[in-house]
Amino acid sequence: MEKYDIVIIGAGIAGLTAGLYASRAGKKVAVIEKNVAGGQILSVEKVVNYPGVPDSTGWEISDKVREQAESFGAEIIYDTVREASLADETKILTLDGGTLQARAVILAMGAGPKPLGIERESALAGSGVSYCATCDGAFFKNKDVMVAGAGKTAVEDVNYLAPIVSKVYVVGENNLPAFSQDNVERIEKAKITALSGMPLSSVKLTAASVEREIPVSALFVALGTVPDTAWLGGAVELDGKGYIITDENMATSLKGVFAAGDIRRKELRQLVTAAADGAIAAQAAVKFVKK
Ligand SMILES: Cc1cc2nc3c(=O)[nH]c(=O)nc-3n(C[C@H](O)[C@H](O)[C@H](O)COP(=O)(O)OP(=O)(O)OC[C@H]3O[C@@H](n4cnc5c(N)ncnc54)[C@H](O)[C@@H]3O)c2cc1C
Repeated sequence: MEKYDIVIIGAGIAGLTAGLYASRAGKKVAVIEKNVAGGQILSVEKVVNYPGVPDSTGWEISDKVREQAESFGAEIIYDTVREASLADETKILTLDGGTLQARAVILAMGAGPKPLGIERESALAGSGVSYCATCDGAFFKNKDVMVAGAGKTAVEDVNYLAPIVSKVYVVGENNLPAFSQDNVERIEKAKITALSGMPLSSVKLTAASVEREIPVSALFVALGTVPDTAWLGGAVELDGKGYIITDENMATSLKGVFAAGDIRRKELRQLVTAAADGAIAAQAAVKFVKK
């Protein structure tokens, strides 16, 4: 079993920054990533609010942070952490490809897209149902598509899709913001009730007590994000929404276990706060393993 001083779960901006700081402090560090290093921001086409980087893509920013972390010696392991035994002094992490041992662990699993929660949604994922307009929008050039959601993610998705597709229906359970594009139709106070076809061919919904079935080639679910902490089995204290509760040094309710980034209960989930959390968690973890 490979032994590390600090193992970080998740190579988003929080996990990569933690990896950068902890390895620069001379610790043996692994960052485990189940997909691509970079996390959520990878698919964002335009980032203008990261300090010192006035205009960039999410991929460019996260790739630089990955390079920086690796240059200080952080080892990025592409695998999924399935189980974590965190209560004892020696922490054991079970990955698909084996088991790792750590003296401190930083939880930086971020957040994933919130599903609609209706029948056939997961069966249609990748066959017309998508959670990432910037990743999949181009597949639906000149087709009619639908965006479900009314918040920031939905607005970004509509603005991204409108120039590419033939028509965008944007569906929200309450009021929707105004859109200036001619090919955007808003359907307010609506609830999506069923998905038809394989791949997706139409979406049924009820709006103001009237049932409609709208033919579309894609449904982009843009309801924001939720933390993926259920698999921790209650090992660390969570809030009612599943976010990890930490103190200001990113310490969780378990000794030697820290959390950073969007997975943590906090007000502002952005790159700059994810990076700051990662640096603080790394410093606290380094102090902890020195004891
Ligand atoms: C559409 C959109 C636009 C945004 N635009 C901006 C913006 O313009 N500016 C800004 O500052 N912020 C923006 N954000 C917010 C920003 O992307 C996040 O706050 C930030 O990326 C969070 O980083 P993180 O490291 O905490 O989590 P994430 O980026 O979610 O990274 C977590 C990583 O952990 C991995 N992981 C999860 N579970 C496991 C496991 N069990 N085993 C191994 N790996 C695992 C995931 O695959 C993922 O790569 C945007 C977010 C979205 C969704």
